[in-house]
Parts: sequence; structure tokens; C-alpha cells
Amino acid sequence: MNIFDLTGKSIVVTGAGSGLGKSYAHALAAAGAEVVCADRDATAAEDCVASIVQKGHAARPATVDVGDETSVNTFASLLAADGAALDGLVNNAGIASLPMRTHEVDVADWDRVLAVNLRGMFLCCKALIPLLLRKQASSIINISSVIGEIGIYPGFAITATPYASSKAAVLGFTRQLAVEYAREGLRANAIVPGWHGGTQLGRERRKLATPQDIALFEKHITATVPMGRRGKPAEMDGLIVYLASNASSYVTGQSFAHDGGLTAA
Ligand code: NAD
Repeated sequence: MNIFDLTGKSIVVTGAGSGLGKSYAHALAAAGAEVVCADRDATAAEDCVASIVQKGHAARPATVDVGDETSVNTFASLLAADGAALDGLVNNAGIASLPMRTHEVDVADWDRVLAVNLRGMFLCCKALIPLLLRKQASSIINISSVIGEIGIYPGFAITATPYASSKAAVLGFTRQLAVEYAREGLRANAIVPGWHGGTQLGRERRKLATPQDIALFEKHITATVPMGRRGKPAEMDGLIVYLASNASSYVTGQSFAHDGGLTAA
């Protein structure tokens, strides 16, 4: 028996069009799940599906903006239309703040980041939990960040309080969710990624950073991460499959740092 086997399970991954979400979708599909690759970028979602199907695994695309209630509800109705049940939901879609210190943050940027990272996670849970409860065992995995646990300031604003606040809130949200639904077989856990390469997060922020800032930041990572390097998205394959599968059947309300030791230092 393979306790990590996801054959026959249907799992939604939001933000599957790029970076960590795409990597999670590939790992879950390789373990046997049919993955619904949801992204607000329709082309990116379809590309993710094509790359999974090319490897002989199962996936289908969905266009959804997690911060938009109507979009999320339409997505949930389409999934529910054929009486389908869900085994898993990975709330991964997320965006970064602009690189500002708190007294410089635009209220619009605060609202923009919270709308996706926190409200989006809530909207997806609200709409999809009824489908997850159709199964006797199901799993929600929320993606937080080390910035939800520790402050980072290498002499300039590489990240900001809207992002930090949203990612800290993910942890409280996950614990409450876990306790509310534990008796119905729905588990909820969080992954706390540290600095990972190969993603597009902070694309807007990078436009504002100088080459000197970026070089300083890379130096900061090497100096402060005990392992001395960024993580690779695929290094999380084991963790995401573990949390989605029966291998973690007695684990709920927990958070798992994947950060090269950053939050332990
Ligand atoms: P990314 O930008 O490469 O991918 C994010 C994906 O989410 C994109 O495909 C984007 O189109 C999609 N998305 C954004 N807003 C959306 C919305 N409103 N509705 C639906 N889809 C939306 O970023 P990433 O680095 O892969 O980040 C994924 C998650 O991991 C985020 O929640 C991020 O905060 C978290 N995270 C990343 C890192 C890292 O090092 N990359 C570290 C800690 C946490």
C-alpha cells in the first residue's frame, strides 16, 4: 500500500499557472490526483494542464480570480454541477506588496494584497468547503510565507506589511478552519515557504528595485538562510503530497516551514 497515493482524488490548486502553484499541481498529479489548475490567467492555467497531461497525468484548467466573489462562486458552481466532490484544495494564489515601508504604503496596495492573499483564500474556502465535505476525508493546504512569521529588512523594503499581515493571517485562519471541521474529516494545514527561486512573485516590486537592491537581497539570503541558498519549488513535492494524502491523516491545524532553516535561526 502506498500511503501517499492520490489516485482517484480531485484537487484544486489556485495560482497553478506559475511558480510554486504549478510545481504543486505537477507533484499532486504525478501522485495520481486529477488536478484542477485554477488561475486568473487562463493561458497560464491551460499551459500548466498541457505540461501535466504531456507527462501522462490528469489535469483540467479553470479561469478564476480568487479575489472576486462572483468569479469564485461561478467556479464552485461549475465544479458542483456534475455532483462532484473534492478531496483537496491548495490555496496558493498570492501576490506581493510593493516595496514600501509602512508609512509609505498606499492604502490601495494594502487592499490589493489583502484582497487576494486573505480574502481570496476565504472566498475559495467558503465556496469549496461544501464540496470537500462530500468526502469522508479531505484536505485544505493554505500557503503562507516566512514573512508571516518573521520580519525581513535588509536595509530596504524588499517586502512590506500588507504581505506580512496577509501571510500571518493565513496561519490563524488555518488553525480555526482545522478545529471547526476536524470532526467531519476535513483537515487544514499551512505551508510556510521561505525564499524560493523560479517564480514570478514580486514582479511588480522587482520593477521598482534597483540592481543594487537585488544584489544586496541575494547576498542577504545567502547570509541569513542557514542552508545558504534559495529553495527549488520541486523540493516541496514531498510536503504537498504528504499533506494532501492519507499519510497525514492525523495532522491538522499545523504549519510546516520549508525555508532552509531560516525561521529556526
Ligand atoms: P507566482 O507569481 O510565480 O505565481 C502566482 C500565481 O498566482 C500566478 O500564476 C498568478 O497568475 C496567480 N494569481 C495571482 N493572483 C490571482 C488571483 N487573484 N486569482 C487567481 N490566480 C491568481 O508566485 P509564487 O512565488 O509561485 O507564489 C505562490 C504562493 O506562494 C503565493 O501565495 C506566495 O505568497 C507564496 N510564497 C512564495 C514564496 C517564494 O519564494 N516564491 C515564498 C513564500 C510564499
